[in-house]
Amino acid sequence: MKGSDPVKQALDQLTKKWKVPPEVYDLHLGKRGDVMDNQTEVNGVIYHIPYLSTAGLYVLWKCLWPECHNCCDRQGRLPLSRSDIDTIAKKLGYKSKSEFVGNETVISSWQEQESLGSIITTISMISLKRKADEQEQEDGTPLPCRFLDGKGSCTLHPDKPGVCWLYPFASWTESDSRGRPKVHASFQLTGDCPGFYLDNSVESMMPVLQEYSKKIYNYNMEISRTVREKYGFINFVDLDSKAR
Ligand code: SF4
Ligand code: SF4
Repeated sequence: MKGSDPVKQALDQLTKKWKVPPEVYDLHLGKRGDVMDNQTEVNGVIYHIPYLSTAGLYVLWKCLWPECHNCCDRQGRLPLSRSDIDTIAKKLGYKSKSEFVGNETVISSWQEQESLGSIITTISMISLKRKADEQEQEDGTPLPCRFLDGKGSCTLHPDKPGVCWLYPFASWTESDSRGRPKVHASFQLTGDCPGFYLDNSVESMMPVLQEYSKKIYNYNMEISRTVREKYGFINFVDLDSKAR
């Protein structure tokens, strides 16, 4: 079912407007057999940067906004943290949070699996509607976000959802060998972002890693609070332990 791969479809659409290096294209489709996980820790966040060992190149990223706003043109879902709900309800003029949740949000439920891992995570969150009449069955389908204006700017900025600040990083918290929580981040390879490039060292991306480490760390703490206060639910299933 090659033609129905949503990542390939997204990439093929992306390459009509942007130059995507062939190595980056193949990485998105899982076609590189030489990918190594380079872990770079910055301010308490462990970044998993793909290293293409036969090419001797790292896959790095920088945002091309304002020339690009593809992530807002093709937004899959906008899960809200506890503080996102407070901030955006106020921004949209709601006095009552329950009225905001009833009018402006849907429930999203989705699964994530780390590319090399055996853990499947099922997440359920309150998500901001990307269009006024969004239905729950549209969750995960790319849609142009209603908050994107004609100039490519976000009308919620700086009060946009935490996930918008983080894209294209995905992040999660894991305990290290001593049981201490560690925040991890990797790229979401959805095929929607033209900002990936290749370099023979991570150096050129260090300012971005510095900038994002604070946002990623704080977002993970906020998501823990969101789950603790039952505004969202996260379940982990370890496929290895089930197979034993
Ligand atoms: S798609 Fe990528 S490059 Fe474009 S605005 Fe979003 S994060 Fe930046
Ligand atoms: S809320 Fe703003 S930043 Fe987020 S997808 Fe919509 S337009 Fe883009």
